[in-house]
Amino acid sequence: MVARDESDNRTLASHVQYVRGVGPRVAQTLSKLGIATVVDLIHHYPRRYEDRSQLPKLITLRPGQYATVRARLVDVHTRPTAGGKVILKATLSDGTSSVTLVWFNQPWVRNKLLAFNGEIIAYGLVKDGSIGYEISSPEWEFVGEDGDASEAFGRIVPIYPSTEGIGQRQLRRVVQNALDDYLDACVRDPLTPEILRAQMLRPLRWSLRHIHCPDDEEHRAQARQRLVFEEFFYLQLAQQMRRMETRQEPGIAFKVDEPSLWPEIGKLFPFELTAAQVRVIGEILADMCRPQPMNRLLQGDVGSGKTAVAACAMLAAVKSGYQAALMAPTEILAEQHAMSLRRIFEPLGIEVALLLGKLRAKERRNAHDLVLSGKASIVVGTHALIQQDVQFQNLGFVIVDEQHRFGVLQRADLRKKGALSPDVLVMTATPIPRTLTMTIYGDLDVSVLDELPPGRRPIKTYWKMAHERPHVYRNMRSLISEGRQAYFVCPMIEESEKMQTQAAVDLHYRLATLEFPELKVGLLHGQMKPIEKEAVMEQLRRGELNILVSTVVIEVGVDVPNATVMVIEDANRFGLSQLHQLRGRVGRGTEQSYCILIADAKEGDAQARLDTLVATSDGFKIAEEDLRLRGPGEIAGTKQSGNLDLKIADLIQDARMLEVARQAAIDLLEQDPFLRRDSHAAILQRVKELRIDTALIAVS
Ligand code: ADP
Ligand code: MG
Repeated sequence: MVARDESDNRTLASHVQYVRGVGPRVAQTLSKLGIATVVDLIHHYPRRYEDRSQLPKLITLRPGQYATVRARLVDVHTRPTAGGKVILKATLSDGTSSVTLVWFNQPWVRNKLLAFNGEIIAYGLVKDGSIGYEISSPEWEFVGEDGDASEAFGRIVPIYPSTEGIGQRQLRRVVQNALDDYLDACVRDPLTPEILRAQMLRPLRWSLRHIHCPDDEEHRAQARQRLVFEEFFYLQLAQQMRRMETRQEPGIAFKVDEPSLWPEIGKLFPFELTAAQVRVIGEILADMCRPQPMNRLLQGDVGSGKTAVAACAMLAAVKSGYQAALMAPTEILAEQHAMSLRRIFEPLGIEVALLLGKLRAKERRNAHDLVLSGKASIVVGTHALIQQDVQFQNLGFVIVDEQHRFGVLQRADLRKKGALSPDVLVMTATPIPRTLTMTIYGDLDVSVLDELPPGRRPIKTYWKMAHERPHVYRNMRSLISEGRQAYFVCPMIEESEKMQTQAAVDLHYRLATLEFPELKVGLLHGQMKPIEKEAVMEQLRRGELNILVSTVVIEVGVDVPNATVMVIEDANRFGLSQLHQLRGRVGRGTEQSYCILIADAKEGDAQARLDTLVATSDGFKIAEEDLRLRGPGEIAGTKQSGNLDLKIADLIQDARMLEVARQAAIDLLEQDPFLRRDSHAAILQRVKELRIDTALIAVS
């Protein structure tokens, strides 16, 4: 991102310490905010704005509101707490009333306050305190600290993401200096006048100036629009270009004879395919026949029947003389897929090989031989599938199940296992909001299974307190006496698999010996050997277990239709999508199913998550809510995809702009497919930078 003015050596890539008012010490502090260069500083956008043209009188404050106040400091006092910490309180008064600012364990604030005599401006949540209203851990600054107060008052003021050691005033000043000294000299607009005109966007310099110091709300909004568009635009261009490249690799044109294939498909399953399944299979078969490599994402809520779709596609690949591979994220899931695929394919004389990381040397050699010789037409496995020494005879079709657990890179690795690029189908049970799909999987075509097999009853979901357990157990006992089976999932312990296992062992003991001594209670956790896990799953499937106690290892894919009760202990400790996945383990047959969330915690997010889950079973709604609560970085494996480090755009708020940017990207590439025109050089440069970042992050 370097633009150079010939007349001096000022560039946007210069170290931030050369900005007026920065210097080595402040630069050190800025580095904690991820700001290393001038351009980083210019792109350090405000977190929010305060309209300081009219600040409320203290008498008008009400608890529960976020407010900015400006008043005189009248009293400072500290109090030690039992834990050896210090509470600092400063009371402000403006003549109409007073408010007290509270800091926990920040003793240095005291000295600053004592040395100051004047007004303070502070922002935060107003609460009813012990002696009037309080604002805890406020954002604050002194008024007129260094003479010039105009910059911070009587207008809309930007509030920046900050860190200890640098205040808002100083941040505002150095950003302003960077804009004054570098904007006109160094910043060139990569977007052409045609694009700006077509999208009705403001120029870059104007937008940067107004995002940092807007003169009114409308200009701020226009500045933001422009920057949001641009951020999405490069991302979409990168995606579209990657997609074009994939299409140019030589792929396989499968010879699929649909008229003879469909009747065979009809005989594969003991049920009729849903209309959605038929449609999606059609989309996949059409892709397979084309000479370009297929690159398709199949989204379907839990239980929508993705495995059946996968099996049909594999059948088509095998009938055309190619091997098909299915990669699953966990061993249990791989084993389960292998089992159900064997049930389907062995009667047709099609052999299914299973490749797991934990196979013993001899078993592994056997499996490798089956794969290399082509004796096994279908290969199922975990990431062991993409290891160097696995060789296929002629891999033509690859399915990646539960994509959100695999990185972009792994997808690419599996693709390389074929001589020609194999067709790739990525399946995910986590419904992904459309905005995320477009940003992470923008290089894929998308199919959606938007229909559940018939006869399913909606799962009834309840949220119960810990003290209601006896009641839950009573109801469960009566369902079990009617022949149903139940899952208990114990809390997730992120830090340690060992602790997690221990939790499952403890819960198993409690249920098996204390609560339900008369029932058969099984145990499943990640530290068991594959053969032990398989044995337990087999017992469950055969109905020999009434209850299965498990860790989250059963989160995906486990399919036992007679299990109709899912009890999730400490449900507040799980994420929303994860709870939805767990719930999806029941409701897979025709009996009424139940999901019981046991949790006492009522604090903010947990409450919102549990309420959402009780209120809806629509996976897409849940995914949107999850995105809203957690932000994009946390869901759908986006950490690995890397390109979601959005500086200003917001996937929820700016969903419409994302569509606009996507269309603009498609239009531009239609005119100039490789961005080779001079007028597009700056855009190409930005897209390339983005793609380098993405690749690096995918590797790490
Ligand atoms: P997903 O992987 O999408 O969560 P599965 O493929 O595991 O779902 O299917 C869930 C259950 O529904 C399985 O027991 C499967 O046999 C059954 N199933 C799939 N398609 C149909 C259908 N069209 N009609 C009835 N049952 C179906
Ligand atoms: Mg599945």
